[in-house]
Amino acid sequence: MEYIYSEEVDPKLYETNGLVNQLKLRTHKDSVMEIRGALRAQEDWSKHVHQINNYHGGLGDPYSFIRVTVPECLPDRLELISYANEYAFLYDGKCLSVFSCLHTSTNFDLDDMEKLDLQDTNGNAHGILETFSHDVLSREIGPSTRPEKRIQAQILSEMIAIDRPRAMVTMKAWAKFVQLAAETRKSDFKTLEAYLPSRIIDAGELIWYGTLTFGMGITIPEHEKCLCMELAKPGYAALGLANDLFSWEKERIAAEKMGQNYVFNAIWVIMQEKAVDESEAKEICSDEIRRYMAEFTQVVESTKNDQGISKELRKYLEAVLLSCIGNIVWSIYCPRYRVSSDC
Ligand SMILES: [Mg+2]
Repeated sequence: MEYIYSEEVDPKLYETNGLVNQLKLRTHKDSVMEIRGALRAQEDWSKHVHQINNYHGGLGDPYSFIRVTVPECLPDRLELISYANEYAFLYDGKCLSVFSCLHTSTNFDLDDMEKLDLQDTNGNAHGILETFSHDVLSREIGPSTRPEKRIQAQILSEMIAIDRPRAMVTMKAWAKFVQLAAETRKSDFKTLEAYLPSRIIDAGELIWYGTLTFGMGITIPEHEKCLCMELAKPGYAALGLANDLFSWEKERIAAEKMGQNYVFNAIWVIMQEKAVDESEAKEICSDEIRRYMAEFTQVVESTKNDQGISKELRKYLEAVLLSCIGNIVWSIYCPRYRVSSDC
């Protein structure tokens, strides 16, 4: 891939906790648009959906989420991608809180605002799922339209105004994700092997597919869609496991507070499967992340010059790899995964 909008970060300037070997972090040259998009999403959510307190989303210092995970985002889409991503962070809590009411053995990313949402989730589950699934491509707004749906319709309108075909692909992928994710957290997984396919879905391979293809203006040819998902799997395994590793404390505490006997997190699964404590489970998880990062790096290297695969797919795979390292570095520095004393 030709790098146009990003620059390499000096490896002396960031930690990877030994999870990234040789790969270099890249960051988008424009630091303003991401911040603008994320703050606008927070304002809209506060105004129309729910007041937010002590909330942390994608923004971080010095590494904010979109800057390092989509470093080659087209400049005219950066603010919108950031807005949509922040909406997903905000929505994640609300949506997954609903799932936790539906299935008591589930867990969710908890931010302080999300605790409040638990009070009004009874009876709303169906509506929220519908907001994001069956009705996802509709931009029709009426007096009874939920505020989340209004924001979502606004995102879709803005996306369509920029790039209609890719906006449609992205929104369909996001809708499919929500349907699949609702199923994944139902099970109590006994082994990491059984857990990972669900975690890959839950980590948002479809959400991210939509984000990267729209953000970078990539079109994966129809006949390569299955190959695309297959080749990217180790990358999404690394993304999901890294998220589990860094959000473990927060999710464990959340599960305890909810009285749940199960945490949808690789650390929990490894502790049960191998009968090890937290720190050993984290070591095993870190080894798995390194293994998947190496495997996926190999996939990207071996397909880089393969003329039998479209240029678009090769660009996508490289973009996923950049996301993997960006995600790890962001996770290390972001306020979102710091467990505060009042959590
Ligand atoms: Mg997590």
